[in-house]
Amino acid sequence: MDSPETSSNPPLLAGIEAGGTKYVCAVGHDPENPLSEIRFPTGEPGDTIGEAVNFFREAIEQYGPIGAMGIGTFGPADINSRSSGYGGILTTPKPGWAGYNVVSALRERMGESVPITFETDVNAAAVGEAEFGAAIQKRNVCYITIGTGIGGGFLHDGVPLHGRMHPEIGHMLVPNLEGEYEMSNPGSVCPFHDNCIEGFASGPAIEKRWGAPGHELSDDHPAWDLQARYLAHGCVNLTAAWSPDVIIIGGGVIQQKGLIPRIREHFAKLAGDYWGNLPPMEDYIQEPGLGQQAGIVGALALAQRLL
Ligand code: ADP
Ligand code: ZN
Repeated sequence: MDSPETSSNPPLLAGIEAGGTKYVCAVGHDPENPLSEIRFPTGEPGDTIGEAVNFFREAIEQYGPIGAMGIGTFGPADINSRSSGYGGILTTPKPGWAGYNVVSALRERMGESVPITFETDVNAAAVGEAEFGAAIQKRNVCYITIGTGIGGGFLHDGVPLHGRMHPEIGHMLVPNLEGEYEMSNPGSVCPFHDNCIEGFASGPAIEKRWGAPGHELSDDHPAWDLQARYLAHGCVNLTAAWSPDVIIIGGGVIQQKGLIPRIREHFAKLAGDYWGNLPPMEDYIQEPGLGQQAGIVGALALAQRLL
């Protein structure tokens, strides 16, 4: 029978990628190579945290005590460690989650002693990419995800950017370009804004507009030109507002072949010659080096930063 690893090992790192659709939990000594990982659908909060705690308890039996935990969560969330609501999910339509405090629930069931960092999923992914992926040695990193929604995380001089709450770049406003294309069902999918980038360029926006999800549209479908233009607008705005070293774009929609090169082309056109000192486009706008693992690797890296 396996005995728990001895204290000569470095402390065990625990990570949670807390997505709105699925939870991923992992433990390990090296964020890039977890010893054990589990993924399950995000259900009612008590059950979901219960499942995570069961996984961590088994991991402790097998590998020894947890030294620190990093969480990258869906939002909006209270990630301000000085706030009384730190660790909580804010407004969300997900049943039961609005006002639920993830960090308190974990502490209640696992004890107070383990230090926990609670970050946005996209800030965690940015940390993963900066330490192990496409943004190694970059200090100012933007990680954007294009999936069911659009979100962005930032490392400002290596440190996750929070602000008053945290950035929500999905709701940046962009011009409506739909009039230049023929489509079955135009309009934003964001219930709050007529022309935000999430409303125009998330996976559900593509599906609504063209009548089929992205993976069913051919490579030469006009959807991809429009998609690249919207995302290029977002990248120009981020460049103007925040001056990153690199913009990494991940999420389900980016699996569409050729989308990133098209975004670079449109970025160059929209930006003009203004930013003469930008890195080459292939270095400036990139896919995640860690692929779909950026979030969970980042959560483990956040745990490591606590030690
Ligand atoms: P989530 O945002 O829920 O974490 P994902 O990042 O996987 O999930 O994104 C899901 C979205 O990506 C869906 O809207 C889906 O239609 C879209 N999608 C999945 N695969 C592809 C693909 N190959 N090409 C374009 N879009 C895709
Ligand atoms: Zn919006």
